[in-house]
Amino acid sequence: MSKPMKNKCDLLLHADVVVTQDGKRRVLRHGSVAVADGVVVAVGASSELRQAWEARDKMDLPGKLLMPGLVNGHCHAPMVLLRGIADDLPLMEWLEDNIWPIEHQLTEEIIELGARLACAEMLATGTTAFLDGYIHEEVVGRAVQQSGMRAVLGEGFFGFPSPMFPTPQHCWDSIRDIDGQFAGEPRVRSAVTPHAVFTVPPEHLTASYELAEELGMPWQVHLAESPVETAVCMEKYGKRPVELLDSLGLLSSRVTLHHCVDVNDGEIALLAEKQARVVHNPASNFKLNSGMCPVQKMLDAGVVVGLGTDGAASNNQLNMFRDMGLAALMGKVRADDASAVSASSVLDMATRNSAQCLHWPELGRIEAGCPADIIALDLDAPNLQPLFNPVSQLVYATSGHEVCMTMVAGKVVYRDGKYTEFDRNELFEEVRRVQSWIEERRS
Ligand SMILES: [Zn+2]
Repeated sequence: MSKPMKNKCDLLLHADVVVTQDGKRRVLRHGSVAVADGVVVAVGASSELRQAWEARDKMDLPGKLLMPGLVNGHCHAPMVLLRGIADDLPLMEWLEDNIWPIEHQLTEEIIELGARLACAEMLATGTTAFLDGYIHEEVVGRAVQQSGMRAVLGEGFFGFPSPMFPTPQHCWDSIRDIDGQFAGEPRVRSAVTPHAVFTVPPEHLTASYELAEELGMPWQVHLAESPVETAVCMEKYGKRPVELLDSLGLLSSRVTLHHCVDVNDGEIALLAEKQARVVHNPASNFKLNSGMCPVQKMLDAGVVVGLGTDGAASNNQLNMFRDMGLAALMGKVRADDASAVSASSVLDMATRNSAQCLHWPELGRIEAGCPADIIALDLDAPNLQPLFNPVSQLVYATSGHEVCMTMVAGKVVYRDGKYTEFDRNELFEEVRRVQSWIEERRS
């Protein structure tokens, strides 16, 4: 009798634990993942997959846990170069007196370097995709392309003339241009990105939304980040931020809203009804004392809530594991309920929900048909012993530095402290040079 024919794949990964984040949230002990053409083709018990699949390459990962790459729902990647430049200040003072004066002097080369450093930090801490917002996003896209990551680029704009864009029309042209530049790159997409409702007037918000509709892109904006923003919005327009967007007809499933800290119950119901997505940024909200987002209320209402780091100047890390831990802890204090914002809901936020915030819903899960964006964590770390509940461990006990392998679209881009696509020492050397450049311009 001939042996049964095996299915063929490029790579078969075996690990002690696989946290799939699939529809059933299966957690497999001794699980395997089969990958072909950068896509997951099967997930299941190692004993079964070893029988059923023949792979060109195998990766045996004893003592390791596999999970989907984390999805950072809100980032300003190049701002990582401003990490630690100004801390312990309220939002407006921090932004207007410390961040914007330096940002206005940044060159394309420096922005690209910042994005490269951001990609390095995210890959090392298990993030495989992010939703960005900054200027010169074409060079952010280049950094993403080179590092092997995945991103949605958000070329940001304000209502007032800036050195980048004398008029919003210049920004619309730039968005089309960037989208065209990455048309052949499956790991890079674009989003329309007005800064906030207090810096972009209603007519430009509306016009940019129409552009997003025309180009089939997501539309993202900072919204209701703090009570200060609400006060400014009330004074300018006589409406609260969510109310203002709704009155303009700009709440829909196309929309991703960053922060939503200062929202009331009626506004939460409206966000759910309109299917707008919300990205929660706990570290940034804490650091700038912006307030506490009512995450559990949003989840109860059916709002899709993702998780993000925000920029590294207000976090100061791009490490989603830290934001996962903070989201769970803060969620309980905000709801005055220890059962609120559970570990499993936080893991959903950092994976599947953030994927929806990127409007890339097939990310954030290890499931047949989804891109093979997979990370491995070393379970030998003392803080991960003993292992009763892997999901609890990932949210409450993991630091992010247990990540030992990061794969995007089936390709290993980070393993055991080394990047496959670039040299970390050369990158850090360039960062030190730019630090001196920034210091000269501050004094
Ligand atoms: Zn932000």
